[in-house]
Amino acid sequence: MAEPKENLQMEKIVSLCKRRGFVFQSSEIYGGINGFWDYGPLGAELKRNVKELWWNAMTRQRDDVAGLEATIIMSPEIWKASGHVATFSDPMVDCKTCKGRFRADQVGEIPCPQKPSKFVSECHGEKTPARAFNLMFQTYVGPTATEADIAYLRPETAQAIFAQFKNVLETSRQKVPFGIAQVGKAFRNEVTPRNFTFRSREFEQMELEFFIKPDEVIEAIHGAVATLGALDPKAPTPEPRPDWGWQAWHQYWVEERVRFYEGIGLSRETLGFHHQTPAELAHYARACTDILFKFPFSKKAADGNVTGDELEGIAARSDFDLSQHQRFSGKPMGVFDDELRAAWAKLPKEKQDDLWRRYYENRKNYLTKSAKPDETPEQIQKQATDDANGLAKGQYIPHVIEPSAGVDRLILALIANAYSEVTKTDDKGKSETTVLMKFHPRVAPVKVGVLPLLKNKPELVKKALAVRDLLRPWMNVFYDDGGSIGRRYARQDEAGTPFCVTIDFDTLGEKPELLDTVTIRYRDDGKQERLKISELMDFLLSKIR
Ligand code: ATP
Repeated sequence: MAEPKENLQMEKIVSLCKRRGFVFQSSEIYGGINGFWDYGPLGAELKRNVKELWWNAMTRQRDDVAGLEATIIMSPEIWKASGHVATFSDPMVDCKTCKGRFRADQVGEIPCPQKPSKFVSECHGEKTPARAFNLMFQTYVGPTATEADIAYLRPETAQAIFAQFKNVLETSRQKVPFGIAQVGKAFRNEVTPRNFTFRSREFEQMELEFFIKPDEVIEAIHGAVATLGALDPKAPTPEPRPDWGWQAWHQYWVEERVRFYEGIGLSRETLGFHHQTPAELAHYARACTDILFKFPFSKKAADGNVTGDELEGIAARSDFDLSQHQRFSGKPMGVFDDELRAAWAKLPKEKQDDLWRRYYENRKNYLTKSAKPDETPEQIQKQATDDANGLAKGQYIPHVIEPSAGVDRLILALIANAYSEVTKTDDKGKSETTVLMKFHPRVAPVKVGVLPLLKNKPELVKKALAVRDLLRPWMNVFYDDGGSIGRRYARQDEAGTPFCVTIDFDTLGEKPELLDTVTIRYRDDGKQERLKISELMDFLLSKIR
């Protein structure tokens, strides 16, 4: 049974999101559509900031990652190769009493569809046996709408990256290790969308596929595979080294991603981790670490601690994806590595044999588990032998580390994390509770509110508009001259605006020594100080970047 307090917190958040224009129900005037959400004026800015920050951190601030923007509808062959057509499904049951449709593994946790507002946690009706329900949205390409025209809205952005791997490699002048990043829409026909935007049917992902050399290749070139010890969260993340194997790269990316979250205001205490067990891992994956956020709806574990719900998964996916596309498309997905070829020629025979055998076993294992019905063991052995023989020629299929994050879940985490209430009591003993959204200035939808002290004094208004125009090319500014200054501050607090700048008579030189200064007010503690207009830009930019 969900705890009422948790639901109350979520109710407050959902209500603020609507009231202030962060998130609206999609198609609300027609009664909404389950699992679809629109972002209002503040939500759209917040989302844009988050995506920009991710893109900047992942591509522009690095030499080893290139960007991609692919289409949502792609050849359906992609989804056959990736396994989505065959296996991207959830077990679904129907309730014979309430006629609700549930994910079999979630029965007992979800609101009864007949009384969703009550957050009834269990429908006791008899359930049908579970059956697989494919989560991909299907459509038709072209006017004939036959079976042959079926296509899918992508359920993840990652596959486009694999499909375009060779084009990006060739045009970006990158060499393994390197990554390809993409931000974009993904669609999943979730059986039970829930927890506000957390599980939606249309959402956005920010995904990186970071391609690395297989460990056998690292060993051939560098003699040994380097690993990382425990990382110190206070020290800078280690600089990548050429002798890192998949474990070091995986650990590095988990740490990089945690630091990204810290950099936008989610402290380590708000996060949790789930290291997938061998039983949970896909057969091709070597490790997967989920970064969790402690949402108001996150459940307590048996030990009483809240571990959280998934924000992002960071998976070491071996060479599965590129191998699948190579087999299904018939196009080579391997790379040629001069360093490997040169190093291999110099290796002692026993080392060559050892590495060859290990690479062969890995390839045979993959080929066996992914075999098409008509593939024989002999064909598989032959293919694995050819693949292992490729090492001597400097050829291999890159492995991949995949940090895959959901934009909408992150937005919800940022909103839940920022939400706080302040109760103030005035001289007459009347108390009022207001909402303060403590967004990190980097993600805050509005960076600065510009407020003339009085609306009806043209000199103040003129000066305030000049300050707005000065800042506007560089950041999102909100100009507000309506109502008392206290009301205007409160409105910006609720929007999460970290700074407000007030233009008053001193700005105009009433006290000559204060000419061309403004009052800057800080959202979180309400403190105010005087700053020269000429220093304003640098100050604000240093906080929001
Ligand atoms: P879950 O187990 O919660 O269904 P998943 O493990 O299937 O998630 P992935 O396929 O790894 O998720 O997708 C990567 C990220 O995309 C997730 O960490 C999450 O942030 C986001 N995501 C996945 N499904 C949804 C959804 N239905 N709504 C919103 N975000 C989603």
